[in-house]
Amino acid sequence: MTPIDREAIRRKYAVERDKRLRADGGAQYKRLESEFSDLAADPYNPVVAREAVNDHVTFAFIGGGFAGLVVGARLKEAGVDDYRIIEKGGDFGGTWYWNRYPGAQCDTASMIYMPLLEETGHMPSEKYAHAPEIRDHCSRIGEHYGLYENAMFHTRVTDLAWDETQKVWQIQTDRGDKFTAKYIGMGTGPLHVAKLPGLPGIENFAGKSFHTSRWDYAYTGGTPEGEPMSKLSNKRVAIIGTGATAVQCVPHLARDAKELFVFQRTPSSVDERNNAAIDPTWFDSVNEPGWQKKWQENFVANLGMGFPTEDLVDDGWTDLGKRIRSQVIGLAPEQRTPANIMAAWEDADHGKMEEIRQRAATIVDDPQTSENLKAWYRQLCKRPCFHDEYLQAFNRPSTHLIDTDGKGVERITKKGVVANGVEYEVDCIIYASGFEVSTDFVSRSGYDVTGRGGIKLSEYWQDGMRSFHGLHVHGFPNLFFVQQNQAAAFIANYPHNLVDHAETVATVVKHAQKNGYQEVEPTEEAQEKWVAFLLTGPGARIGNIECTPGYYNNEGQGFGEQERFALGHPAGAQGFFNHIEAWRNSGSFEGLAFK
Ligand code: NDP
Repeated sequence: MTPIDREAIRRKYAVERDKRLRADGGAQYKRLESEFSDLAADPYNPVVAREAVNDHVTFAFIGGGFAGLVVGARLKEAGVDDYRIIEKGGDFGGTWYWNRYPGAQCDTASMIYMPLLEETGHMPSEKYAHAPEIRDHCSRIGEHYGLYENAMFHTRVTDLAWDETQKVWQIQTDRGDKFTAKYIGMGTGPLHVAKLPGLPGIENFAGKSFHTSRWDYAYTGGTPEGEPMSKLSNKRVAIIGTGATAVQCVPHLARDAKELFVFQRTPSSVDERNNAAIDPTWFDSVNEPGWQKKWQENFVANLGMGFPTEDLVDDGWTDLGKRIRSQVIGLAPEQRTPANIMAAWEDADHGKMEEIRQRAATIVDDPQTSENLKAWYRQLCKRPCFHDEYLQAFNRPSTHLIDTDGKGVERITKKGVVANGVEYEVDCIIYASGFEVSTDFVSRSGYDVTGRGGIKLSEYWQDGMRSFHGLHVHGFPNLFFVQQNQAAAFIANYPHNLVDHAETVATVVKHAQKNGYQEVEPTEEAQEKWVAFLLTGPGARIGNIECTPGYYNNEGQGFGEQERFALGHPAGAQGFFNHIEAWRNSGSFEGLAFK
């Protein structure tokens, strides 16, 4: 094998990054919802008129994605009957409600990604299930646990305030609702506000345009289930963006459009997917009580620096972990210094990225196109992609890669898209331009949270997030944040963290209800101790500005001091799961004050 020239690769990566750095960083984007509200409307379900609600529930949860569903499931099992989900979409699913673009499928194996498979008795049909099956599974969980009964769809929370006199949360919504809840949960997810590139002329385009999370099948024909988009057979279509979403929908557009123009600023790294149907006989052989937790933990172990003896999922993600471990094991014990371990990691990364670049060279016939599809950055600078038809799509004569050498599309005209000084006339522009990540929480959510004594969450977290276990915040009683920061942060299988948090929420609420407590809140001391403990670890590990720009590093600008607190357990995701399981099982709820 040719030895890796680390310096040469680093130089090439730096040159490619520098081409893409922009002074306006995240400000280059526009919010779909506020700027283009007609494009942001729900194309899937009409908004149904209803009376405003003024009642009380034991538990209200903001967000009807996996977080709200799994917390609801565990609370129902714990005997909380009046659980209400408030959701801006027209049904359960969260990101899976909105993202119905053709080819959408989970990126992490269904066996570990789709929550509550054992409880609902569902066998995923494929190793990586497609979006309609995942959305159906969300409905299945909703029906199985009776979560539809109290749910509010097409409803956005506008205000959330703790009422010290009544010891309840006061909730207001954009549908005129004003109701109270003893407990509140928040699981709004990290990628729910769609964005468009702030291109000059974007509002002037005379043809059809939409964002991938608002796919207009009435215009394209076809269905999310994969039926051909027959109405595109006489259309010239542009897609802007080549991230994880575009990688999944480009093969479908390439198949169905008369002509497809793929506008690329930065290529994705696209490794093989190897999807396959799940065999029911095989599934029966693994379907024993507790199998899903075992699989989820095995996946975490395979991505960490432990030495698991088996790899149940066995895919591109676990391959990443194995490569890094094997490089490290290759070092003699006395050579395993932090610097040598980082160098071994870098070598593993370069080796993998070179393989992925060679994959593009092998699959794509046109030499210039294959060169342009090669990704020049370290693997975790951007979301790694896996697909067996994306690169192949560029071999169709009707599919054109318009590479912009890092500069991006210049502008939109009445007739089409301008890039590299050339106007491409099209009938339809599809924006695969992603979602807001680094904008502030209040602006993304549409509400602030007012805690004890009138303190706003935005003020309380001004210098960075402070929580106990990522779930509870001092001064905000009976409130649960169902998300990954200060918990199992950076876990590749996001739902694993949600399912685990749901256990904790249900355990805490059950204890409070059984003992007649009105309030539960972490002590300030326990919260500070937890955050101080997290800071003893390797740090946030996000926002590396040596990476090519993207939402992982705030468009190349890195993150401020406060993002230092967007971190996880020092021993990684499994370290958090071990800690919290022992904490739950102890039954002493150390760090929480019940009143
Ligand atoms: P991304 O933010 O990853 O991609 C946006 C794309 O738009 C990038 O390719 C970006 O280029 C491009 N872009 C932006 N502005 C311009 C411009 N002016 N000209 C040309 N191109 C432009 O969004 P996605 O929706 O693809 O993915 C978001 C995240 O959602 C993923 O990272 C992943 O976490 C999740 N996801 C998960 C999936 C799954 O699990 N199945 C599937 C799809 C998404 P550049 O890279 O240069 O910024």
